[in-house]
Amino acid sequence: ELRLENFTKRFGDVTVIENMDLTVNSGEMMALLGPSGCGKSTTLFAICGIHKMNGGALYFGDRDVTTVSAQGRSVGVVFQNYALYPHMTAEQNIGFPLKVQRMPKAEIRREVERLADLVQIGNLLDRRPAELSGGQQQRVALARAMIRKPDVLLLDEPLANLDAKLRLEMRSEIRRIQRETGITAILVTHDQVEAMSMCDRIALMRDGKIVQLDTPEQMYRNPQSQFVAGFLGNPP
Ligand code: ATP
Ligand code: MG
Repeated sequence: ELRLENFTKRFGDVTVIENMDLTVNSGEMMALLGPSGCGKSTTLFAICGIHKMNGGALYFGDRDVTTVSAQGRSVGVVFQNYALYPHMTAEQNIGFPLKVQRMPKAEIRREVERLADLVQIGNLLDRRPAELSGGQQQRVALARAMIRKPDVLLLDEPLANLDAKLRLEMRSEIRRIQRETGITAILVTHDQVEAMSMCDRIALMRDGKIVQLDTPEQMYRNPQSQFVAGFLGNPP
């Protein structure tokens, strides 16, 4: 379980998120959905520890990680642009977080193979990012994010750079990987179809606040405001 309590974030004197509460259950995939600028990435950056919170607390299970560094938090992150190292092969990219920890080479190899199996790129491990398709690069990024067996997987618009066909394929692939591993995950997206088709629940945000949190079905059938209805493409 992941729990944000009373989360507040300011940039200078502009308050971007105010007193946000969010609980993501163990093994659940939660969408943070909302229009551009509503604070989705800011929330994700606070959860992974890249940004400090200006107020509130963050728990992974019973553990208060509010002041714990990004390294100490047991999170895996996939960013929109994957951020793979261009000079490294897929194998080296996936294994890099373990190399930093000075894990022995043979063990790294074994772990990389485990993850390559999971994301189904076992035959591409010798390729560099430039020799991989967008979808394949994204699989590498997913494997790298998960190689340290994080408690939480954070995905910031992971499908935004893919063409329509790949986007469909990777929607179900990411969901399969999340289900198979049972990892607790947050998917940031501004695409309501993506959120509805991939996630157990959706937190719909507007101007730094969660305006409704529900299962996709509930939210679609029972939107609690014009904004929600409009955003889901189901205006009354
Ligand atoms: P998008 O869908 O466009 O990625 P988002 O929901 O992820 O949008 P955020 O990136 O979280 O939005 O930004 C929320 C607000 O905070 C925006 O108004 C943005 O301009 C502001 N903001 C984000 N990062 C910074 C920063 N480093 N300094 C100042 N303001 C920032
Ligand atoms: Mg963003």
